[in-house]
Amino acid sequence: MKRNILAALESRGPWAAHGCTVYTSDDWQHGTNHGGKFVASTYYGDSDDMPTEEQAANARLIAAAPELLEFAEKVERSACLDQRVGDKCICSACEARRLIAKALGS
Ligand SMILES: [Zn+2]
Repeated sequence: MKRNILAALESRGPWAAHGCTVYTSDDWQHGTNHGGKFVASTYYGDSDDMPTEEQAANARLIAAAPELLEFAEKVERSACLDQRVGDKCICSACEARRLIAKALGS
């Protein structure tokens, strides 16, 4: 049974990156995120290390994931452009279907 992507997105997004940490919202007051729950951190250095730009970029990518997944679901609804090649089709609709499966582990 295909998972209901929109229902999954309601519990997952939108997310916001703050430095190398991803939260369910970006609601900072007095140095603490009051509105959001922790989602992920891309910072893995020692406490004396500064986060790298790559780690911050990865956090922004993770924060965009729910919206990217929603966009992929919209693209998936479009018709396959070459149904003759089956699973090997590289049209946008088929690529979206593969990426959604990768993201949802299905
Ligand atoms: Zn296709």
